[in-house]
Amino acid sequence: MSTLEIRDLHVAVGDKEILRGVDLTVRSGETHAIMGPNGSGKSTLAYAIAGHPKYTVTSGSVLLDGEDLLDMAVDERARAGLFLAMQYPVEVPGVSVSNFLRSAITAVRGEAPKLREFAKELKSGMDALSIDPAFAQRNTNEGFSGGEKKRHEILQLELLKPKIAVLDETDSGLDVDALRVVSEGVNRFRASGDTGVLLITHYTRILRYVKPDFVHVFAAGRVVEEGGPELADKLEAEGYEAYTSKAASA
Ligand code: ADP
Ligand code: MG
Ligand code: MG
Repeated sequence: MSTLEIRDLHVAVGDKEILRGVDLTVRSGETHAIMGPNGSGKSTLAYAIAGHPKYTVTSGSVLLDGEDLLDMAVDERARAGLFLAMQYPVEVPGVSVSNFLRSAITAVRGEAPKLREFAKELKSGMDALSIDPAFAQRNTNEGFSGGEKKRHEILQLELLKPKIAVLDETDSGLDVDALRVVSEGVNRFRASGDTGVLLITHYTRILRYVKPDFVHVFAAGRVVEEGGPELADKLEAEGYEAYTSKAASA
């Protein structure tokens, strides 16, 4: 049982305040959707939790099982059980997918997986995501299509088994088939009940496949509305307009 606790989080980029007091609690077994218009600060929340150096936490706290994540270096956060699937994954030229994943597992588990076991894990993860075996030898994220990048993120998730997974726009740029494969991956992964998922998305589309337990609406750097899955249906019908005007006048 794990808990990610975000309290009154304020985050700035340079001297521009972007997050203006975010409160959110995610427990293992729960899936939370964060929805909001472009520029509302969704990725900023993800990066701040993960420890990206560009994002300065000016006040508030982020605890994972009572431990202060904000005090930890990026790799320590990963070892503590946090995983971030980025909206725009970075290329790692000269490092194959296979080596990248083996290094990531080694970093998180604190010891290198045995080669044979790793090969088995990798193969079953790739099969489950309908990834071509040749993919493992390609350079990480180099020339990947949108769908390949997202499948690679879910593959990492399945291999690393984090306590809390933050997925930033994992649905963006996917055609319907890829969306289904990626969603099935997330569902398989969360079915264990050991992980809490924070699913960040602009569109309601993925929520037809990955049913959230809670929906939080983000506008202008804070949570402005919360509810169950029915809130996503309301957003699909009505859009964000009501929330953005409310946030602007707050
Ligand atoms: P979302 O993911 O909801 O679209 P972001 O968190 O990417 O929103 O951005 C929120 C606001 O913060 C935007 O106004 C954006 O321009 C600004 N911002 C985010 N990251 C940076 C950055 N690295 N440098 C400058 N401005 C940024
Ligand atoms: Mg505040
Ligand atoms: Mg974003």
